[in-house]
Amino acid sequence: MRLQVISSGSRGNATLVRVDEFALLVDAGLPAADLEARLETARLGLFAPHAIAVTHGHLDHSRSAGILARRRQIPVYCSAAIQTHPAVRRGKRVLTLGGHRPVEIRAPDNLGGLDLLAVELPHDAPPTYAFRMDAGGRRAVVLTDMGRPSKDVAASLTGAHVLVLEFNHDAGMLEAGRYPHSLKRRIRGGLGHLSNDQSVEMLRLLAGPELHTLVLAHLSEHNNRPDIAEEAARAELARLGLGHVRVLVASQNEVGEELTV
Ligand SMILES: [Zn+2]
Ligand SMILES: [Zn+2]
Repeated sequence: MRLQVISSGSRGNATLVRVDEFALLVDAGLPAADLEARLETARLGLFAPHAIAVTHGHLDHSRSAGILARRRQIPVYCSAAIQTHPAVRRGKRVLTLGGHRPVEIRAPDNLGGLDLLAVELPHDAPPTYAFRMDAGGRRAVVLTDMGRPSKDVAASLTGAHVLVLEFNHDAGMLEAGRYPHSLKRRIRGGLGHLSNDQSVEMLRLLAGPELHTLVLAHLSEHNNRPDIAEEAARAELARLGLGHVRVLVASQNEVGEELTV
């Protein structure tokens, strides 16, 4: 299994997971033209990706899922609630899938040799999922957009060889920053995003001896800094006796390295 973060952050999220010739796109949050260009950078075959799995209805994850699916005639796996949730219906988000009928995620789904398990997260676009993906005895986990650490969530997502984990904001930078009070409250609330400290708490629950690469994801441009998040992650990994684990910071602006899971 190979994993490559195509984009990560509030302007658009997408991650490519490949098993042999099969390619699954986890989230399609960039505008379609940008996403197509980045997929080309990732040297996908003509008809790939072969499926899209959407974590939740927020635009930075779902924006181009419908367009891509129609162009390529491929299925979108997501909760049907992406189209019917009241908070989603009011916004433009409902347009993301258009007439394209999503395939409801079952537990677990086998897609092209990849076992996909969706685990529900506390976030303000319910349902929001983390994905656990297994193939050939290897495991990758993509977990972003989570409001608070949870032992129950972590219990279903341990054992990853590659872990993509949200490190959204530094609590101090968020408080001192210029975001309006209501937005600050949403981000730090139990249905918002993980602070670095909370991400470290999740890392403690998730990291095991098989983990070899940790990708810090969905970093806020205004309320976090890659070096602060990386330092927090490295310190925790060292405490856990996992100082050998590779730590990467996913970017919003460029395609990440292709990782062998
Ligand atoms: Zn997001
Ligand atoms: Zn979200």
